[in-house]
Amino acid sequence: ISFNSARFLTSASRLEECPPDHGAEVAFAGRSNAGKSSAINCITTNGKLARTSKTPGRTRLINFFSLNRENCRLVDLPGYGYAKVSRDMKDDWQKHLGHYLNDRQCLRGLVLVMDIRHPLTDFDQMMVEWCEHNKLPLMILATKADKLKFGQAKTAMLDIARKLEGVECLHHLIMFSATSKRGVDESRDALTRWLEE
Ligand code: GDP
Repeated sequence: ISFNSARFLTSASRLEECPPDHGAEVAFAGRSNAGKSSAINCITTNGKLARTSKTPGRTRLINFFSLNRENCRLVDLPGYGYAKVSRDMKDDWQKHLGHYLNDRQCLRGLVLVMDIRHPLTDFDQMMVEWCEHNKLPLMILATKADKLKFGQAKTAMLDIARKLEGVECLHHLIMFSATSKRGVDESRDALTRWLEE
């Protein structure tokens, strides 16, 4: 699989609008501003790919990107908003995402993008618990590692690992930076294994 060939495929606001449920998908989730779009752009070496999902009106949609192998896709889930987002919007978010996550047969794993300086927010923990409960392989990208000194970043990683001890769905915990490209190759290798399995 070559991630460089990723192309925008389609957006969906409801499960019925998603591409046919065959093949293999890996979905990216994260709190707004965690660095999810930058991580996707970096992994696909396409500086514009996930920006499509940030254009007004698309931020709340599920965006699908096709890869060069037939029926292999990366999926950009809507970022989980800040507290200022209305109650209705949160409910909406949970409903759409809930449907996608619960019903999608071709989903091979979830990539949870978190800011290494603010890891394991309530949202992140909810996603970890969901993966554990549904036995869905989880990869965590602790991103913006370039914002910390290496020693601090190491400590942060150990802290995350300790807090997630015993979580069986956690297959990969990767120190990441879209700026320095740290962790990009490792993430691609892990994604390839999930998608090709
Ligand atoms: P999203 O809302 O989760 O998609 O977040 P974005 O990818 O749009 O990133 C939010 C902000 O963090 C932007 O200003 C990015 O330039 C910045 N950012 C994202 N990843 C990194 C990173 O690895 N290092 C640094 N220094 N900044 C980053």
